Amino acid sequence: MPVLNSKPALVGLPRPALAQALGEAGLAGYRAGQVYRWLYVRGAQTFDEMTDLPRRDRAALAERFTLARPGVSDERISVDGSRKWLLRLADGGEIETVYIPEADRGTLCVSSQIGCTLTCRFCHTGTQRLVRNLDAGEIVGQILHARDIFGEWSGRAAPLTDRGRHVSNIVLMGMGEPLYNFDNVKAAMAVATDGDGLAISKRRITLSTAGVVPAMDRCGDEIGVNLAVSLHAVTDELRDELVPLNRKYPLKELMAACRRYPTASNVRRITFEYVMLAGVNDSPAEARALARLIAGIPAKVNLIPFNPWPGSPYECSTPEAVQRFSDILAAAGYTSPVRTPRGRDILAACGQLKSASRRVTARERREAERAREHAVLEEAQ
Ligand code: SAH
Repeated sequence: MPVLNSKPALVGLPRPALAQALGEAGLAGYRAGQVYRWLYVRGAQTFDEMTDLPRRDRAALAERFTLARPGVSDERISVDGSRKWLLRLADGGEIETVYIPEADRGTLCVSSQIGCTLTCRFCHTGTQRLVRNLDAGEIVGQILHARDIFGEWSGRAAPLTDRGRHVSNIVLMGMGEPLYNFDNVKAAMAVATDGDGLAISKRRITLSTAGVVPAMDRCGDEIGVNLAVSLHAVTDELRDELVPLNRKYPLKELMAACRRYPTASNVRRITFEYVMLAGVNDSPAEARALARLIAGIPAKVNLIPFNPWPGSPYECSTPEAVQRFSDILAAAGYTSPVRTPRGRDILAACGQLKSASRRVTARERREAERAREHAVLEEAQ
């Protein structure tokens, strides 16, 4: 059993809250900047490392707070270089974080919730039992974990790759719906983008949503990162089925929110994600309808080959169908890179590693489904 650490975490606190926490521990106000840099520039994992703080202050902090990172329940490294971690949080909850190296960047795919309430029919995370929001520290903790793994901290021999940092980009595309955990995601992104700390540019962060329309406006105004929208269908009829959230925020409202999104300029385009499901949403007519639906929005379309999981009700489109779909979008002026499946050998699809770590009984699954339906209904009210 993991040893549970009940002390509050310092990681993830916005600066004023950090200053206040330190004040309560008896530290002078100006120490907050020092501690902040230890946390996010040097990646300190113990208070003892903070050698420019008086010993007394370090002891006071250690007594009250923890700097513990999430534990690693499982780690898989793919032949293609991607890595997937099952991380264990202080309360024993588990989340997935995935690292994907590419030629010009290294992208960390971060979770925002344990499980998810949305029950998208093709998504494995939607079949999982426990659901809770991650706090800001748990979201930031995933970034710190990846930086620890690559030794990417100032003051240590941080081996930069020839394309720069290992962890150069963040996508909020892991488990959960980030816009249903707005405040914690916002606080975590404030820490991630702070130039005096982790210093990851907002332009290098993309938040993916299934389409929580009112929160999309707030996301643009208050978080200011790039937006990806999980579209997956071009009619309400099909989208109601694939992404049940569509019943609450139908396509018309969703597309209007996309058109309003403040970063929807040519420089920062909205990404429309479209999972390719054989015989379900992959016809040439649907490709043409998609181009019409997003007409006028500075956008790119990310065609995602469906990643099957045991018992999943769909199959991935054929490579020919994907290519045809992509060609039609290209002819309409939309770049539509086909997302190369990464880490298939390490169960990199959403939620798979977590499920592999524990067999869920049929009864638990039914209970979970009932709980989620309940949650979705409550959301809908
Ligand atoms: N809730 C957010 C973010 C998490 S899902 C959202 O819906 O956007 C991240 C992306 O992975 C989404 O586009 C989702 O539709 C896609 N996805 C989920 N399961 C998948 C699977 N089995 N195969 C391919 N893509 C999947």
